[in-house]
Amino acid sequence: MPPIHYRIIPIDPHAHLYEVSCTVAQPDPAGQIFSLPVWIPGSYMVREFAKNVVTARAEAGGKAVPLNKLDKSRWQAAATQQALTLVWQVYAWDLSVRTAHLDASHGFFNGTSVFPCVEGQADQPCVVDILRPDGEVYGNWRIATTLSRAPGTPLWGFGPYQAANYDELVDHPVEMGTFAAMEFEACGVPHAIAITGRQDADLARLARDLKRICEWQINFFGQPAPMDRYLFLVMATGDGYGGLEHRASTALLCSRHDLPTARTPRDKLPDSYLGFLGLCSHEYFHTWNVKRIKPAAFAPYDLSQENYTRLLWAFEGFTSYYDDLCLVRCGLITPAQYLEVLAKTLSNVQKTPGRQVQSLAESSFEAWTKYYRQDENTPNAVVSYYTKGALTALCLDLQLRASSQGERSLDTLMAALWVRYGQTGIGLPEEGLYALTAEIGGPRLGRWLKEAVEGTADLPLERLLKPLGVSLNWETSSPLPSLGALTANEGNEVKLSHVFTHGPAQLAGLSAGDVLLAWNRLRITATSLDKLLARHQPGDQVDIHAFRRDELIETVLKLDDAPRDKASLAVATRASPKASRLQRDWLGGTPQTS
Ligand code: ZN
Repeated sequence: MPPIHYRIIPIDPHAHLYEVSCTVAQPDPAGQIFSLPVWIPGSYMVREFAKNVVTARAEAGGKAVPLNKLDKSRWQAAATQQALTLVWQVYAWDLSVRTAHLDASHGFFNGTSVFPCVEGQADQPCVVDILRPDGEVYGNWRIATTLSRAPGTPLWGFGPYQAANYDELVDHPVEMGTFAAMEFEACGVPHAIAITGRQDADLARLARDLKRICEWQINFFGQPAPMDRYLFLVMATGDGYGGLEHRASTALLCSRHDLPTARTPRDKLPDSYLGFLGLCSHEYFHTWNVKRIKPAAFAPYDLSQENYTRLLWAFEGFTSYYDDLCLVRCGLITPAQYLEVLAKTLSNVQKTPGRQVQSLAESSFEAWTKYYRQDENTPNAVVSYYTKGALTALCLDLQLRASSQGERSLDTLMAALWVRYGQTGIGLPEEGLYALTAEIGGPRLGRWLKEAVEGTADLPLERLLKPLGVSLNWETSSPLPSLGALTANEGNEVKLSHVFTHGPAQLAGLSAGDVLLAWNRLRITATSLDKLLARHQPGDQVDIHAFRRDELIETVLKLDDAPRDKASLAVATRASPKASRLQRDWLGGTPQTS
């Protein structure tokens, strides 16, 4: 069968419209069905991309063919013997890594937002012609994507690209515009970074630092790297943050202030740049852990509905563990700086009462409706499979090291995952990690992991870090007594954004959304609340006036002790030689180059 032929044109940048056509040489004789995904892999939420298809029509042999919409994301063309073309226009005005965007400054799209899937022919090879928008002002636009170029055509250019099937077609996002680009090699594999948006980044510095991360990770899983080339697609804005992994690229959204400049110090990276490198490291690690080592539920993806797995804690949590660990192991940050970052993760989990309500397995399974659809009750009901998953990875790593006198570690487990599931393309069964842990670390550790993942007990971090000469201490993050709620300022007004279960605000009958008016009959404002709190002790009772919608509430709130939810990690000044060795193996071990 001939390939499916796609064409995409930014037809009207000011109206944020792409026109996409899809020609099927041999359409289904019963009437060809086309569909658009409802979600994009890596972002576990049904987003209904078809809502942005503005117009759709079909034609064959120069004549219109009736097109019938079957449901929210499927269309069926009337039966025809001739080559059938579907043409639609897609509205693209969402500046995120998950969807599509177009204006006169640049275009970005994920295939899942724009390319129809030809039902029954998803395995067919695809050719996609990416066309330049009409108009002289677009004359210097280029393309950044890891879609394969047709033979004999240059990288970075408009024109024909190709993919082996629909799954590959939609796993290579495309950027077009006048981005800044820098190429580098990691372990012999061509890499590039393309940055869109106004920025003054030191690209050479960024490329040098990324090269270290990429080479460390390629060697971690073992050469050769599983991709022929790799691309960091970065959109720099005022205050953006986000990333989405793909098989040979990542789409990132960051603040332009996170990017390094000529003045960015080398000895201690500022938190902003460290955060950006951590994000790059995270998405790059996914090249192996989730794009190739996958839950069985994702092999293959079903893009028409939710794909349920209880394993996201392993794919996002382990990736979150290694993203920062990679930075210290490849020498971009110091062990002391790494421990600061780790302490922040510990604090984040500790500040979430939902950790005592939802397990990691449940958080993974319910990601579609809970972690990805956060609301005012999320901290009470949900635990993050990123942060608690990363701490679980740390506990597993430390226990594997301790029980094998440093012979084995989580690295051993990742290597086994890569060989058995990544290189073979076999999906990881839901119980597969418990079995593999038992195999590498013994049945007791396998059982420990299952209990940690399926239960809600706090992790034994203090006990596990001690043998490495690292002590974990908890202190209060605020010197003020606690309201048991988070507040958000709207202008001068103070609103309760989140009210913690059984905390002082909830016991006083206050709820998220209530606007705080008066404290012992003094007005509460954005600037006065902390001053009012500072005049009190835990246990004091305060008269509170608040509005719920337009109704006045009067209540008495009894202040509580500030929770000890801020972690700090300290290294013993005189650690034993054994502790020092364990610490060095953990934070300073470099993988063997094969
Ligand atoms: Zn991730």
